[in-house]
Amino acid sequence: MDSSRQQSKLREAKAEVLSLLKGLSDKVDLERKLGVNYLQLDPVIKNTVPYDEDVTSQPPTPESVCDNLDTYNEETKVELIKSEKIEELKKLEEQVKQCTKCELSNSRTNVVFGVGDPDADLMFVGEAPGYYEDEQGEPFVGKAGQLLTKIIESIGLKRGDVYIANILKCRPPDNRNPNADEIVMCSPHLTRQIEIIRPKIICALGTFAAQTLLDTKETIGKLRGKFFEYQGTKLLATYHPAYLLRNPGDKKKVWADIKKVRDFLKECSA
Ligand code: URA
Repeated sequence: MDSSRQQSKLREAKAEVLSLLKGLSDKVDLERKLGVNYLQLDPVIKNTVPYDEDVTSQPPTPESVCDNLDTYNEETKVELIKSEKIEELKKLEEQVKQCTKCELSNSRTNVVFGVGDPDADLMFVGEAPGYYEDEQGEPFVGKAGQLLTKIIESIGLKRGDVYIANILKCRPPDNRNPNADEIVMCSPHLTRQIEIIRPKIICALGTFAAQTLLDTKETIGKLRGKFFEYQGTKLLATYHPAYLLRNPGDKKKVWADIKKVRDFLKECSA
């Protein structure tokens, strides 16, 4: 066998092993999210497979570009310069726009990929697009979005200085809560976005983003205002702006949380 054929065979074998591992990891993950807690999953296994190996336990659908990604690319772990980040995000967005891995692809008007500076130090992660986001294809453009913009400006930044994305890229009908299947199918997109952007800190907005990224069932009341790590990146959770619209009394807590983010960023650049 010539060496290029050998290499291609090796790549195929590697992709197959990785896809089996990913399928297994997703299955266990899904069961945990469905409340099966007696399986002990080694946290090292979780979310360690790069986006490009994203293969789900569902049968592949030929029309889904997400299932036709290149095989393992060592460079995904390499820090990119801004122009490369722009390029990679563009490619990823094109893939996500074709995604049909879950039912939400049938009801969406637009995929809501994410917006902002690809080189941002601060990245906000919300839950899922709502009505206006689905209409416009941009995250946080409704009332909660306007409040998020104010929160960003309160620490001397502009909306365009940060990056904003959601756990889910498509709107759940009637703004219902995302389900476990949708999270499993969609989270590799966010993982890859974070890998490309490499922010210094992620601010998780609300229960759903915090619980998903931190893989916990702890309440947002307990999680908020503390520093955690998500795959090597600092993470701080706070209340969701939509919650604040209903509970303005908790704005003080968000102000305290966001000041911690501001101070962390100041320390980073000192
Ligand atoms: N709520 C979210 O979590 N995300 C949005 O994009 C809009 C509202």
